[in-house]
Amino acid sequence: MSVLPILAYGDPVLKAKAKPITKDHPDLSAIITNMWDTMYKAGGVGLAAPQVGKSIRLFVIDANPYSDDEPELKDFKKVFINARILEESGKEYPFNEGCLSFPGLREDIRRQPSIKMCYQDEDFNDHEEVFSGIKARIIQHEYDHIEGVLMVDRITPLKKTLLRKKLQNISKGNVSVDYLMRFPLRKR
Ligand code: ZN
Repeated sequence: MSVLPILAYGDPVLKAKAKPITKDHPDLSAIITNMWDTMYKAGGVGLAAPQVGKSIRLFVIDANPYSDDEPELKDFKKVFINARILEESGKEYPFNEGCLSFPGLREDIRRQPSIKMCYQDEDFNDHEEVFSGIKARIIQHEYDHIEGVLMVDRITPLKKTLLRKKLQNISKGNVSVDYLMRFPLRKR
């Protein structure tokens, strides 16, 4: 088991569309174990493989920390492999999101409330399922990561301009963070 560095905004791996994987992907179970460790250590509720430098269609979610406020999230802990969102429905609404690749940044992001998706679990069993509310929200955020889409790709260009300095500081590592990260523009 080991904790992996989380890539900060600006790393090209975060912008790449991740590749599907098969059962015999090398070291898959170790990758998943390390992703759980990394996510818990960083205090996150979700982590996608590209955030630890692996451009594969894999993300993990454990929403138990939110379950005091949202009882439906109790035991919402899953590994999603080769996920595809088939359908999104309902009226878009804003929700304040954070991301381990953007320490110190929180933004209201608009998304639809309900999704229909298919994915494989860690034993490569197929699932087709509908999620809504906070569950859908967390999945949509992690799913974006395997599509190479980031939180800041979903805010207005004006807002992004206003955040330019802050985003540069994240890429350079001029941020205070209490978990292991790798910053693309940090001077050595
Ligand atoms: Zn994220």
